Amino acid sequence: MQDDKDLTPSEVLDLLLYRYREKLSDVHVRQTEACLSLFQFDPESVEQWTEAEREHVRTCPTGYCQRMLALSWRGEHPPLAHLSQFARGEYPYPKAMQFHLEHDRCQRCRVVVHVLKTLRTVAATVAVVYGEGLLRQPEEAAAFAEPRAPVYLRQTSEDGKLIVTVVETDPPEHELKVYVEAPGCGEGGGRVRVTLAGESATLERELELEKTEFGWEAEASFGKFEEAVARLGEDWVVVAVLLEPEG
Ligand SMILES: [Zn+2]
Ligand SMILES: [Zn+2]
Repeated sequence: MQDDKDLTPSEVLDLLLYRYREKLSDVHVRQTEACLSLFQFDPESVEQWTEAEREHVRTCPTGYCQRMLALSWRGEHPPLAHLSQFARGEYPYPKAMQFHLEHDRCQRCRVVVHVLKTLRTVAATVAVVYGEGLLRQPEEAAAFAEPRAPVYLRQTSEDGKLIVTVVETDPPEHELKVYVEAPGCGEGGGRVRVTLAGESATLERELELEKTEFGWEAEASFGKFEEAVARLGEDWVVVAVLLEPEG
């Protein structure tokens, strides 16, 4: 073994280049003739892959294409539809997703997948809310029991059984609140688990649904809006899971 201080500048350079190449080969796997080109991995293009292209990515012999797909999620997370497909074990590019979750250790997507996966068996339904954080005025505000502050985000589950609304309330309270309506809830009532998963933190509450004249509802405050949003970090997402009553 050579001592570091005996290395000439050119040997140091060689060593650095060697280590750099090692690192690259760790990240990049070999591109084949049939592999998709770089621009095809940006989020809009991914949705436009032909059947033949999708089949290639599924079976890419060197794994290059799924790796590139995973790298494209470093700027922007995989769409929620992809996360939920993965949680159901139906995602066609599981290696790409595993790379994002395990190698890139994306905490936010890990929480979403975990919630969707572990609660899938017990959940009556799931609603996932995600937006760019722009306030918009609600068209459906009248549906609520009382007039409410600007709606931040609102989402109905695919089966219409659960409606989740994320609200930034007016000052001076100025809270981050989540309202849940559960038209799909049976006479026995039920509970809703609400998970807010961001890049820096996860906030979670389990709520008991209460019967009002409008049906089954629940709400939770996640504290001061700005503090909650700062804790959560970028690209936070809300996952609400309707749980059937026990027993
Ligand atoms: Zn390929
Ligand atoms: Zn992610």
